[in-house]
Amino acid sequence: MDCIFCKIVKGEIPSTKIYEDEQVYVFADIAPTAPIHWLLIPKEHISGANAITAENSGVVAHIYEVIAKLAKEHGFAEGFRVVTNCGEDAGQSVFHLHFHLLAGRKLAWPAG
Ligand code: AMP
Repeated sequence: MDCIFCKIVKGEIPSTKIYEDEQVYVFADIAPTAPIHWLLIPKEHISGANAITAENSGVVAHIYEVIAKLAKEHGFAEGFRVVTNCGEDAGQSVFHLHFHLLAGRKLAWPAG
């Protein structure tokens, strides 16, 4: 499968690793929009939020546990945003489920 994020998990494409365990890989976004802009991805290929099922959803809960842990460890637990774009209409450009983790500046809402 020609998936850029699967290749990052396998080390075939370089990335700036933030965290890794048996289920999840976390790395810096190549085009950051905040001082902290990381991507959390399941190591298993899931194409997007619209492909989450009862069989594969466990990793989503795990990813949110990792987010809370990283936020505490890196000192931004008081303010961060998690975003998942799903589908081309929402701006998804890589079709491997990922969670943008944004922090380190004031984040406007609606998103900005
Ligand atoms: P989305 O547009 O929501 O699908 O998000 C995809 C994200 O992946 C974008 O923010 C890109 O900047 C990021 N991205 C694409 N290729 C790479 C890469 N090789 N390393 C790190 N981030 C990447």
